[in-house]
Amino acid sequence: MSTSDFLFSNALLVDPGTGTFGSRDLLVRDGRIVESAPSLAPYQQWKREERPLEIYDLTGYSLFPGLVDIHIHLRVPGQEHKETLVSGTQAAAAGGFTSVLAMPNTTPCLDRSSVIRDLKKRIASEAVVRVYPVGAITRGQKGRSLAPLEALRWEGVVAFSDDGRPVMNACLARQAMQKALQIGCPTISHCEDDHLARGGVVQEGEIAEKLGVKGIPSAAEDVMTARDLALAWDTGAHLHLAHVSTARSLEMIRKAKDRGIRVTAEVTPHHLVLDEKAVLKLGSNAKMNPPLRPEEDVLALQEGLRDGTVDAVASDHAPHHPDEKASSLAEAPFGVIGLETTLPVMLSLVDQERIGLERAIELLTVGPARAMALDAGTLQVGRQADLVIVDPDRTFRVDARSFRSKARNCPFDGWSVRGRTLLTMVGGKVVHEETESLKDRITRG
Ligand SMILES: [Zn+2]
Repeated sequence: MSTSDFLFSNALLVDPGTGTFGSRDLLVRDGRIVESAPSLAPYQQWKREERPLEIYDLTGYSLFPGLVDIHIHLRVPGQEHKETLVSGTQAAAAGGFTSVLAMPNTTPCLDRSSVIRDLKKRIASEAVVRVYPVGAITRGQKGRSLAPLEALRWEGVVAFSDDGRPVMNACLARQAMQKALQIGCPTISHCEDDHLARGGVVQEGEIAEKLGVKGIPSAAEDVMTARDLALAWDTGAHLHLAHVSTARSLEMIRKAKDRGIRVTAEVTPHHLVLDEKAVLKLGSNAKMNPPLRPEEDVLALQEGLRDGTVDAVASDHAPHHPDEKASSLAEAPFGVIGLETTLPVMLSLVDQERIGLERAIELLTVGPARAMALDAGTLQVGRQADLVIVDPDRTFRVDARSFRSKARNCPFDGWSVRGRTLLTMVGGKVVHEETESLKDRITRG
């Protein structure tokens, strides 16, 4: 192996998975964390004769476990005009993410062993971060018959979802949960009642009327949340709820958790900081599914971060070609990108004292890793060296044109934020680095 060893010293290490918050040194060898202490002995002790040791002085910088995003759309296979494995995973690395779950609504969708096998081959050669495919629940994500869940699991999917679409047939949804329970992985529910939401563009109400488009009622999400919680209760299976966006759904999840139902939940950064009014200014770059909700829902979601009802923040990174997003609001596809803005947006919630820094990092690391049972999200000794170095004080203006992602459909374009990713490491390998900011900090021993 030709990798270096690394000694990261004097960083503010925030690792909620091990309860670490403070100045810390960290030693990486053979792609793993081998030592972590307030101050490690002089580097000579750690240097091996046969290979180099890189010593980073990270005074003033923060060191986090590599971030984990359990909900992204990589558009591979078949929609490479929107995103590719290279651009999507480089965007992840630039945003500090080292593990991502790729949703199955591709072309073809991830509903067959052969498709997963091909995708995994491409991941091995093209991706710069760890990519975990999610298998479809139903064939063709059409909601008519179950996909071969066991075979998909055998090929390495970590969860099942028809994300982008609901599984409207409760009988199929129940069967899927029963199977998933036997197989030992979660089902991820995109909670949306097709009949209530059909044809809708933005949140139902005054704004939809003003824009002359059909509205999507909050009830479209809530009735499916209720149904899926009932099915999780009935089956005992682990249900994960994607992009929860309403106060009522969150309240049901809170009660379900209190009852001991196996449910985990994620929210997106955009639902945490933008409300329904954003579409008036941003147009199709504020069109997503579920839609941006009224302010009271936004505040309820923030409360859900604080009280533990929410397990993870996930970007729902949904790249589209600029031409697609440029069509009318009614015709533009749903979705916004988020890999390169999620961490700064979460830090803005820290600055507004909506949540603490440790909780923000927990929601981006060990929280999502636990929800999906991934070996990721903490810098415990012995774990793989997936980490991110951040300059927490560097402020910058979000510029979508500079993104690694191929897409530009970002609702935060132009925002002034802080928290620049300086280096991202996956298994001891540097996959993203701002050399300018770090060059004076490195000693090569
Ligand atoms: Zn979805």
